[in-house]
Amino acid sequence: MFAKVIIDIASSQVDKVFDYAVGDSGAGVGFRVLVPFGKRFIEGFVIELCETTNFDESLVKPIVKILDEDAVVTEEQLFIAKVLKEKYHVGFADSFRLFLPASFRNGKVKTLFEYKIVLENEVLAKEQLAKCRANAKNMIGLLNFLLENGSEKQSKLNAKFGNSSVSKLVSLGVVKKVEEQKQRKPYATMEVGEQKTVELTATQNKVLDAICESVDKKFLLHGVTGSGKTEVYMNVIERTLQKNKTAIMLVPEISLTPQVMLNFKRRFGETIAVLHSGLGIGERFDEWKRILCGDAKIVVGARSALFAPIKNLGVIIVDEEHDTSYISDSNPRYSTIEIAKAFADKFDCKLVLGSATPSLETYHLAVEGKYRLLEMKERINKRNLPPIKLVDMKDEILMGNNQVFSRELEMALTECVKKGNQAIIFINRRGYSSYIMCKDCGWRAVCPSCDVSLVYHKAENVLKCHYCDKRFTVPAVCPECGSKYIKQGSTGTQKVVDEILKFLPDAKILRMDNDTTSTKNSHEKILGEFRAKKAQILVGTQMIVKGHDFPDVTLVGIIDADLSLHQSSYQATEKTFQLITQVAGRAGRADKQGEIILQTYMPRHYVYRLASVYDYLGFYSKEINLRETTKFPPFSKILRVLISSENEELAKNFTTEYARSVKNYSDERKSLLGSNDFYYIGAMRSPLKKINDKFRYQVILRIKTEAEQEITSKVFALLDEKKNKNVLAFVEINPSNLS
Ligand code: ADP
Ligand code: ZN
Ligand code: ZN
Repeated sequence: MFAKVIIDIASSQVDKVFDYAVGDSGAGVGFRVLVPFGKRFIEGFVIELCETTNFDESLVKPIVKILDEDAVVTEEQLFIAKVLKEKYHVGFADSFRLFLPASFRNGKVKTLFEYKIVLENEVLAKEQLAKCRANAKNMIGLLNFLLENGSEKQSKLNAKFGNSSVSKLVSLGVVKKVEEQKQRKPYATMEVGEQKTVELTATQNKVLDAICESVDKKFLLHGVTGSGKTEVYMNVIERTLQKNKTAIMLVPEISLTPQVMLNFKRRFGETIAVLHSGLGIGERFDEWKRILCGDAKIVVGARSALFAPIKNLGVIIVDEEHDTSYISDSNPRYSTIEIAKAFADKFDCKLVLGSATPSLETYHLAVEGKYRLLEMKERINKRNLPPIKLVDMKDEILMGNNQVFSRELEMALTECVKKGNQAIIFINRRGYSSYIMCKDCGWRAVCPSCDVSLVYHKAENVLKCHYCDKRFTVPAVCPECGSKYIKQGSTGTQKVVDEILKFLPDAKILRMDNDTTSTKNSHEKILGEFRAKKAQILVGTQMIVKGHDFPDVTLVGIIDADLSLHQSSYQATEKTFQLITQVAGRAGRADKQGEIILQTYMPRHYVYRLASVYDYLGFYSKEINLRETTKFPPFSKILRVLISSENEELAKNFTTEYARSVKNYSDERKSLLGSNDFYYIGAMRSPLKKINDKFRYQVILRIKTEAEQEITSKVFALLDEKKNKNVLAFVEINPSNLS
């Protein structure tokens, strides 16, 4: 028997499969093995067993030994590795890094042990007791305790009777020290509280049946914020477990939403494992092991939880499926949903994507019938979604108000605090890059070819389009209205807090952004304080918009909505719509009516017009038409090949040559098939020119989706031909940010 083995070296150069003889090593598919490689011995993973080999059998070396008792990579994970390779050009060795906790691979973390002291020899113990002097109180106590109880944790005995008496009995052979595994459990200290059982509404039941009792496999659950999607997810999971299958539930940035964990722990107890980036190394390792050995039947976590070694998976649920955290924009780069989709197609596993504002791409697929569309249009509390009021900041300037807060928001906030309610003030920061806009008329600098915002590059003092690399000079006055108030930049959270204190000097305000949440559990602490009403106002960035359920929040203020609209991305408008809906969803969730005030310089922009009346469908139709006209996804696929090297010349030459070979390929296709499948091919320096002393270049391709599979594999093959150890190349598909 022969094994195909992937060698564990982190470099895409060596993503090759080697044949080894299995012999009597006991290795099977998914096993970690030690194999001879050149002059060394090295770790590898068995990805396939076969009866024959294409090499000279006498030269095929044997597997030295297996490194674990059992397989550590599942069949399902091997499938995922293949998808990652096909779609994203990710090597097997790199995929396995996603599957296995780092601590496992380098053997740094040992299983945590706890010792138990067990009475071994009763006769000896009694003898010992008889020998004790009357003042040896600890020893007498210890022996009596053990004669009575038989065993106890060492830590407890040490504390009660002293370390020395315990270890003396061990050395005398009176007692035995036994290892007992102790698990590190994330959220162990969390108060779980009592489970509240709710009766599902008719709508929830209908959706639940559609998912669990139909033959359909892939679903989009489009439900407004507060429509009870989470409750549906939990019931889907329950029914899946009843069918003896397991479940993965993905949530964006779970470390920010301990509440989700709480709900799930209440319902499912110990069968849950959690995986996210906020876990300690040891915690992660233990959770991984509980999943691998089948103790955990539900995995809840951030995008990487999809790579958990769970077997017999019956459902993958992706909450807030539109969220950008599902796209990995550092190596390896991939879209979680694309992988989950491939998984559901291959295995007997359902896929449920849920959102109040599905991504355009997902909704488009639902319209095309690729997902079954399920809708929940009403909030559980039967209340209307809170009204969104647009405030035109240009009017404020006209009225002589140059402040961060409009008069309207200032008044509403004052009123809200006076009534004893709570407010959230949202500042948009993510993806912030400097754009240029006119404070008087709202004009902004956009690329005429791509219709995305231009990015201001200070060093060169030019405006650049990150999609096509066109450059423009920075205007001194607004080209629309001649105003000289052309502004760039954004407001920070501290500044907003200071501004609030000007008109509400006694207000208690919490701040939540990258600065205030750098330590572990700080999110939880801030959110906990806000929930406990220790503050009336929470000022924060993107972190505060996700899934929080604060019953007393009646006002949400959005300070500078335009920021996300000005992001240099074809998705800027879509992201803005999603953001507004999500932020607005934080208000009026319980019995109190909520209100949203949104400040903008462009109140007539369709995104605000439609978002303010929660018209998702209206927005979808408008935006999808635009995408079709401009040939952006889902009507094309954008491929970015990022090329980097410490040697700038090498990176540059590689880029030029690679772009040329792609161009040749495109010309060939054109003459052969008569069709032009490439909308765009360009090679340029990356907007971020240098990271970690590596110079960055990129080749950007925009291709027709119909020919996508064929073209990407050719484009990857061309890349492999050129690859060498001095230049690194990574691929991104439909990147949401081109930095
Ligand atoms: P979504 O995930 O769609 O934003 P949630 O699942 O968080 O909505 O539900 C909003 C609120 O309604 C939560 O407080 C939840 O506990 C409650 N809820 C959900 N379903 C029911 C139900 N069937 N009966 C009563 N309350 C419910
Ligand atoms: Zn202007
Ligand atoms: Zn452009």
